[in-house]
Amino acid sequence: MKLLIIEDEADTARYLCNGLREVGYDVTWVADPAEGKRISASEIWDLIILDRMLPDEVDGLSIIKHLRELGKTTPIVVLSALATLDERVKGLRGGGDDYLTKPFSFPELLARVEALLRRSGIRDNGSDLKIADLRLDLAGRRAERAGQPLLLQPREFRLLEYLVRHQGQVVTRSMLLEAVWDYHFDPQTNVIDVQISRLRNKIDKGFSPALLHTIRGVGYRMSADD
Ligand code: CA
Repeated sequence: MKLLIIEDEADTARYLCNGLREVGYDVTWVADPAEGKRISASEIWDLIILDRMLPDEVDGLSIIKHLRELGKTTPIVVLSALATLDERVKGLRGGGDDYLTKPFSFPELLARVEALLRRSGIRDNGSDLKIADLRLDLAGRRAERAGQPLLLQPREFRLLEYLVRHQGQVVTRSMLLEAVWDYHFDPQTNVIDVQISRLRNKIDKGFSPALLHTIRGVGYRMSADD
């Protein structure tokens, strides 16, 4: 899950980055409004957190306007110290999907981020995914096998989530590249093999039965009964 934060205040940004990374999001922070405008449009994001008042007298709303004009529907949470009702309405009318007034608490921000991702269909309703004794807690971005917590990197979690969602089916390399790496081409590297082998060590080593199977020349399959 890729999140972009456009925020010039380093303390606020760090607080957000740390908190969001801790719960498993892949977070990029940009402080400069011009760079924020560029990167928000040129890369694919699941959600953007945008400060309203940026340096050089840039109003965050102008970035939203730019994105919407390009036809981008990326969900956006607007952060701002402007607390009056009028300003809130302007923030929402400006194309923001939610509006949060500073100072805010991290749990409140997280709840809103999750609600927006859910609404935009990017995340399911927080239910668990399961295969055999392996369980993924989607809301908490945690996984465990036979009751033992698995220490997964955010990308490993995404990879595992994708494989478990497609359990019983063969998943090809290009499906994984597109869903987990956001690549729409094959980079001709062994990035997937390396990551799969790392993931297999974490989820299958010391457990039975093996769940992650390689289908030679085709891809991979999650299954409890091979
Ligand atoms: Ca600011």
